Amino acid sequence: MSPEDMEFLFQADFEDPGQQVVGLYHSHPDNAAYFSEKDREEALVGWIEPEPFYLVLSVYRHRVLDWKAFRYVENENQFEECQLVVEPA
Ligand SMILES: [Zn+2]
Repeated sequence: MSPEDMEFLFQADFEDPGQQVVGLYHSHPDNAAYFSEKDREEALVGWIEPEPFYLVLSVYRHRVLDWKAFRYVENENQFEECQLVVEPA
């Protein structure tokens, strides 16, 4: 995420005050969908309430081959994979 994206995220003025950031995603080009050490270092723990989930896409040759979601578990002070269910709006 670029610094400009981060600035937008924290200054976002949603039309509907009930809207909020619930998740962030990024891709791992030519690599697996896992939560790397760099991902841990760059996670926004404590910056966004409620704590967002993180979606990591595995992309090979411009095609998404896998994806996994992770969330921060406060009492364990670590990230764990979680189930992400996508439902139609
Ligand atoms: Zn990553």
